[in-house]
Amino acid sequence: MSKIIVAIDGYSSCGKSTLAKALALRMGYAYIDSGAMYRCVTLYALKTGIIKDKKFEPEEIIHSLPKIHISFQFNTHTKSNDAFLNGENVEKQIRTLEVAALVSKVSSIKEVRTHMAAIQRKLGKDKGIVMDGRDIGSHIFPSAELKIFMTADSDVRVQRRMDEMHSKGMHVERNEVKENLLQRDHDDTHRKENPLVKAKDAIVLDNSDLSREEQLEYVLKLISDLTLTKDSFV
Ligand code: C5P
Repeated sequence: MSKIIVAIDGYSSCGKSTLAKALALRMGYAYIDSGAMYRCVTLYALKTGIIKDKKFEPEEIIHSLPKIHISFQFNTHTKSNDAFLNGENVEKQIRTLEVAALVSKVSSIKEVRTHMAAIQRKLGKDKGIVMDGRDIGSHIFPSAELKIFMTADSDVRVQRRMDEMHSKGMHVERNEVKENLLQRDHDDTHRKENPLVKAKDAIVLDNSDLSREEQLEYVLKLISDLTLTKDSFV
């Protein structure tokens, strides 16, 4: 079977990355977390003082883009990619609430999105990739062979994000996590540039009551159905 692109979009903390990682492992594909890229830009702006007291000038971030080098390296321990910012492993630093509270504002800057889009398309040029985010099926890879749009009950999502942060040794309050999640959903769906929307041909997956295994089996079945209906992928 020829390689395909799987685009997974959806609201914050729906379990997109968990599903995308498992799917990529099973298919022997690369997994790219596009959210991590926007988080890296945000972290860079925080570290360099471009963001001060939660405020920033978009122009300063735009001018810094050529200095921000983002890469991914497979971590054999977690069986997933870690994000690197200018050569430093920042996988943990980009997951803090401080970054989460600012990333949607940074990701709404048109030039930042254009820059990230070019990198993301390059990463997917040979296909054989699972990418998750907010605009992957609608904008980055409009011809992706499979597009999934994930959603889940907001309380389930808050619990998942808290579990994820606790597992990384971060202590956070439920109301803080919930507020951040709902705010990001609002910002991501209302921004002007490539907002979070369901691509017309995306398949909706509400995973509120599904286990990880059930979600993976569901998507693998979609992929095997695809191969039955199409002789080969281009
Ligand atoms: O997926 P994650 O929650 O890590 O994404 C962090 C933020 O990055 C999102 O809230 C959104 O503002 C932004 N993002 C985006 N487009 C993507 C992926 C993420 O705007 N494709």
